[in-house]
Amino acid sequence: MRSSFADDDLVLCVLTYLPDFQCLASTILTSKSVYNIFQQHPRSIIRSVAYNLVGPALPQALRFVRCRNAQQYSKPVGELLGEDNIQRNPVLSSEEITGLVAISSSIQELECVFSRRMKDRRYATSQLSSAESTRFQRAMYRLCLFSIVYGLTAYKSAPEANSNIILAVREARKLRKGFFGNFPTPELREIQRVGEFLRGILARTNARPPLDDPEPSHISTLTSSMIYHAPDTALKVYEGVYDWIHDLYNIAIPFFEDFITEPLVSVLLDRNEPRLLPVGHKHLILDEVIGEHDRCSQCQSDSVQGLDLWGPNNWRYHWSMRGTRVLLIVNSLKGNLSRNHAYEGHFSSVVERAPTEQLIAGLFECKIPAYDTWNKEDWLCRQCLETFIHDHLHVWYLNQKVKGGHLIPDNCFYGYNCTTQAEKYVHAKELNHLCEPTKGYDNL
Ligand SMILES: [Zn+2]
Ligand SMILES: [Zn+2]
Repeated sequence: MRSSFADDDLVLCVLTYLPDFQCLASTILTSKSVYNIFQQHPRSIIRSVAYNLVGPALPQALRFVRCRNAQQYSKPVGELLGEDNIQRNPVLSSEEITGLVAISSSIQELECVFSRRMKDRRYATSQLSSAESTRFQRAMYRLCLFSIVYGLTAYKSAPEANSNIILAVREARKLRKGFFGNFPTPELREIQRVGEFLRGILARTNARPPLDDPEPSHISTLTSSMIYHAPDTALKVYEGVYDWIHDLYNIAIPFFEDFITEPLVSVLLDRNEPRLLPVGHKHLILDEVIGEHDRCSQCQSDSVQGLDLWGPNNWRYHWSMRGTRVLLIVNSLKGNLSRNHAYEGHFSSVVERAPTEQLIAGLFECKIPAYDTWNKEDWLCRQCLETFIHDHLHVWYLNQKVKGGHLIPDNCFYGYNCTTQAEKYVHAKELNHLCEPTKGYDNL
């Protein structure tokens, strides 16, 4: 590249259009002249790339990163760096860039979940328009800021200040209310909407365990804890790869009760606004929802909303709760099979190795005749999906055993309903129970 004025201008222009910092790093290393142009305008190029990466919510994202880096914990809102800080101090340090890259990637992933759950269930990637995306991300960064300044990290950083819990709670609530009081009502509603979405995914509204929900009230109280800890890690909890319970030891629950709702609602009430999200609140962030009124392909139930239907692209979130997945699948077996000790360990290990989406796809490959009209591509309500799973899990397991070279003994007359399989290990071992009963209990 010869370095004429026009070329320099062009290179500068290209650099400012790069989508992220990795691209920028590799591009400026391609030639000395490109590197020199970068060196002449490093700040404006970095700011442009930061904008390309984060988008219009950059002021909110940078405010979060800077307040966190400066450890501005438990400060009144007036003492926090503002969203206009990007104008006052537009130079980004490398520490800030690292922070922006990390947080924006989490927020974008959350946007994908939001999109799939709230806008268009058919796609795993975000289908939000740029205006919708800006509203979502702006609210999410503000919630992250709120959590870092007034949440768990702040609480743990000043243990002595929290020794008198009544005073600490009173003081904390004042600070939190001050924070929310700073936003106009429509933007406050967006934060409320995003907070509700997070609570929803944390409480597994998308993948509520079908059986044996372990202590649901306990879980629902604590799941919201993630919101005051770090909203960006909510995704890991949702995916079942992060166990947050251990973060909650030794915290004073009253300090975090109604962490977001109490101060937020209190501001709304002061403004004579209803405490709850208005009807049709889905549209607070979204302008358009796709497939909202779609029905279950099989039962056509009108009580299940289109966005809550299950299909190949969201099967993986079924049984997503870490630690209980195998148990829940075992409990979905027909008849008394879950109590058959001859299968128990082996079935669990087979299930453990099969990712959920692969397992459910496998069930469709061994459909029994009663399900002739059911297809893998169907969108099903939870109930239909669970009935389908219940009716096929043992057939699938039998296939897995055959594929694995296991010898299958003769069928027990009572099939999966046999009670002896649960009581006598020898009987359980001697006969195959992964089959339809040919005798009823009346004959016993
Ligand atoms: Zn259905
Ligand atoms: Zn039997």
